[in-house]
Amino acid sequence: MRILFATSECAPWAKTGGLGDVSAALPRALAALGHELRVLMPAYRRTLQMLGSCGAAHRRYVLPRGGCWPAANMIEIETDGFTLCLLDCPALYDRDGGPYADPQGRDFDDNALRFGLLSDVAARLAAGEVVPVDWRPQVLHCNDWQTGLAPAYLSLRDQCAAVSVFTIHNLAFQGMFGRDLAPALGLPDEWLDVDGLGHWERISMLKAGLRHADCVTTVSPTYAEEIQREIAGFGMDGMLRYRAPDLYGLLNGVDVQRWNPATDQQIAARYDADSLQFKADNKAALLQRVGLPAVPRSMLLGVVSRLTAQKGIDLVLDTLPALLAHGDQLVVLGCGEARFERELQQAAAAHPQQVAVRIGFDESLAHLIEAGADAFLMPSRFEPCGLNQMYSQIYGTPPIVSPCGGLIDSVIDEDGREEGTGFVLDEISAAGLLRALERARGLYLDSAADWRALQRRGMRRRFDWDETARRYAILYVQYLRRRAAAQGDRVAAAVSASNCC
Ligand code: ADP
Repeated sequence: MRILFATSECAPWAKTGGLGDVSAALPRALAALGHELRVLMPAYRRTLQMLGSCGAAHRRYVLPRGGCWPAANMIEIETDGFTLCLLDCPALYDRDGGPYADPQGRDFDDNALRFGLLSDVAARLAAGEVVPVDWRPQVLHCNDWQTGLAPAYLSLRDQCAAVSVFTIHNLAFQGMFGRDLAPALGLPDEWLDVDGLGHWERISMLKAGLRHADCVTTVSPTYAEEIQREIAGFGMDGMLRYRAPDLYGLLNGVDVQRWNPATDQQIAARYDADSLQFKADNKAALLQRVGLPAVPRSMLLGVVSRLTAQKGIDLVLDTLPALLAHGDQLVVLGCGEARFERELQQAAAAHPQQVAVRIGFDESLAHLIEAGADAFLMPSRFEPCGLNQMYSQIYGTPPIVSPCGGLIDSVIDEDGREEGTGFVLDEISAAGLLRALERARGLYLDSAADWRALQRRGMRRRFDWDETARRYAILYVQYLRRRAAAQGDRVAAAVSASNCC
């Protein structure tokens, strides 16, 4: 199949979280199954700087201008597995800061147009309207609100356009904008009510994807269930129940090329389940790098996260006094809400022997924390999938996680059971986190053999993308068949269904 994957992040070219990882790994895994992949992403200033410094060969062409959008070019690079298509529109993307916000963390005030253009170009490519591109996808796979308008724009085209898949990576980010932007975004009036894109007097680009895509997926089976309920639906549960027949939960995988302790060049010593003794070298290197002393029988807890309430950072802060009293150590890498950054830094200043905090985004330190910590904390309030708990298991660093979303689907509670790989909180609260920490500490300090067995079970788990990519491919075929059948074109149905998975 020819698949166009539209996204606002793709590691290493742009990444603020899991979306960046998934947008590199899933297309690569699909390509490994024999499909043709193009990944469409904006050419942010930092992305262009990376392209300049790595000197990768690329092609450039002018995009035919559509509607009243600003002028733009396309830059194409052949990467490992897929063609990366960078949408180069200097007026919208060539600026300081990250993909969504300025260097002070304030959202850009023209984000509706920035990601409206991305969606428009995705739809035009999917409909075969971009003349210099001799490549027409059968599937348009969109991701999160930044590409939510693409299935909506595509639905305005004829039935021969690609089928559209919309993946929710995080329902909390809904791409909400004023209704006054509808004309500039080319949205018909009849789309703007509550059964369409209308949401709390505004319009939501996420809802556009939910409403108009042929099918909707999210990144774990449990999250697919949770978001249909009011308590976790962020106001979209009604729309999600309406789309339930076309809603699927497929667990994300791990990019084992980048996250594998046996080959990872960003850690101090490489190891696998049979050479776990070398993990201690990583703990020593991590302690040294963040300036903490080595203390015998002290459990080193790691956190790599956006510092937000979603990730339960307040719960970590609430349990800190007990954690310190037990002699544990804590290393935190992250950035996010100012109050959490401030309180964590204050804790580090007050307890320099036990707490180290690094504010910022640091890929190599993230790898070293996964390899060097004894256990990993992830007490999220909700978690669509989560990647770090999977990395932790693979790195022999048992995760301590909340009972929600993808965390339930990927961590098996130890609880004295033979198959356990981590510790699942009995409730999402500071008390629940404390009880899970006590269980973890008890096993870590009292039974080295049981702890090692727990580590090994996690390391032997397989979170490869291969299986998930196959499931996506099957889903694409299912919807291509349905489209072909709806058109009464049985020949097309047979062709699109053959050799796809
Ligand atoms: P999110 O909700 O942020 O997408 P995930 O667990 O799905 O959470 O993915 C987060 C990804 O971003 C992981 O690869 C994690 O290692 C990475 N990450 C998060 N914060 C940082 C940071 N400060 N420095 C380096 N990597 C980070």
